[in-house]
Amino acid sequence: VNFDWTAAQLALRDRLAQFAGAGLPPALPDQFSRDRWKACAQAGILGLPMPAELGGAGLDAVTTALAFQTLASETRDAGLLFLLGAQIWLTQLPLLKFAGDDLRARYLPKLISGDLISCAAMTEPDSGSDAFSLRTTARFDPTRNGYFLNGRKIMVTGAPVANLALVFATVDPAKGRWGVTAFLVEAATAGLTIEPHSTMGRRNAPMAAIHLDDVFVPAAQRLGDEGSGAAVFEHSMRFARALLMAADIGIMERQWKECSQYVRQRRQFNQPIRRFQSVSNRLADMRVRLETARLLVYHAAWLLDSNGDADLGSSMAKLYVSEAFVASSLDAIRIHGGHGYLTENKVEADLRDAVGSLFFAGAGDIQRLLISTRSIE
Ligand SMILES: Cc1cc2nc3c(=O)[nH]c(=O)nc-3n(C[C@H](O)[C@H](O)[C@H](O)COP(=O)(O)OP(=O)(O)OC[C@H]3O[C@@H](n4cnc5c(N)ncnc54)[C@H](O)[C@@H]3O)c2cc1C
Repeated sequence: VNFDWTAAQLALRDRLAQFAGAGLPPALPDQFSRDRWKACAQAGILGLPMPAELGGAGLDAVTTALAFQTLASETRDAGLLFLLGAQIWLTQLPLLKFAGDDLRARYLPKLISGDLISCAAMTEPDSGSDAFSLRTTARFDPTRNGYFLNGRKIMVTGAPVANLALVFATVDPAKGRWGVTAFLVEAATAGLTIEPHSTMGRRNAPMAAIHLDDVFVPAAQRLGDEGSGAAVFEHSMRFARALLMAADIGIMERQWKECSQYVRQRRQFNQPIRRFQSVSNRLADMRVRLETARLLVYHAAWLLDSNGDADLGSSMAKLYVSEAFVASSLDAIRIHGGHGYLTENKVEADLRDAVGSLFFAGAGDIQRLLISTRSIE
């Protein structure tokens, strides 16, 4: 096993660290910024794992994870990085892998350049963890060679600012998962309306419900065959579960550095609080979580690159990092005492962001279910 980065990977890391430090000034709290989105696109972030002929850099999953970890460790804008990652893994990747040449050429270069923004809509009021029991319907109309979509999606990351939505619907509810089909829908289509949610964290990544009332989608906007939507979704989840967590380990890295500085500066009982073993033990625990999280994310990314069986690795990375991020965010607050509770010090914001990680791309209970199913022989 070789844990060394190549010269090219280190150069990318340095370039992105510099970009995040200088090019992403402190964000307006709770507000998505199209300028920041554009700046990230111009820095090549949306194209990192996309092929060169579509405007990307063609990087592997391991290097893309390094890029997101670096960006997240250098900026406090967890929402922006989450939105960028969600677009890459939940819509760009399905388009790349399952869309026809025309659809790919029409949308992917504009998504990579930041001219268009996309979101992926699976969750519904009555189908969350049991995603393939969705009720949104897609009724084929042969006279118009297209589908009419009807239903309601919720908790869609990026929906309030997206130009495109990858909507999962069923062509036949009786077929269960074999009826699920993916459609790329332009947000400006008649009958599609957005109802914003208010969220606990990552507020720079706005979320919304999407109402679909007789929304017409041409058949050419379907990804893959009818009934292939579950495969499209599972493929994107395999990547998202590992790679969305790369940003979380970047935040944990920043958090650890900030806490280790704080315990040296903060004095109580005439000494730095680092001298109290209960405080330094918390830092030790945070460090072990960070290193374990790194190993799991990079191992899962390596499995994805080597076409290995990545499902187990991705679920383990998703489960462990999300829970470690919550635990370390609480430890960071404890280390800062009451000062960590004050929003002006921004320590508590990580905890609010971390709670979201427990649920996106499948709740921890579902990851445990997947891990045990795949592990027990
Ligand atoms: C930050 C964030 C971003 C998101 N982004 C998107 C997005 O872009 N697009 C999208 O479509 N959705 C998105 N979601 C929704 C997310 O996918 C769902 O929240 C998740 O799948 C869980 O579904 P649910 O919230 O309906 O919970 P439920 O499925 O109702 O679960 C409730 C509880 O029951 C447990 N549970 C359910 N089934 C089982 C089981 N079989 N075994 C054990 N425990 C079980 C769960 O773990 C949970 O604790 C996002 C959510 C969050 C928090």
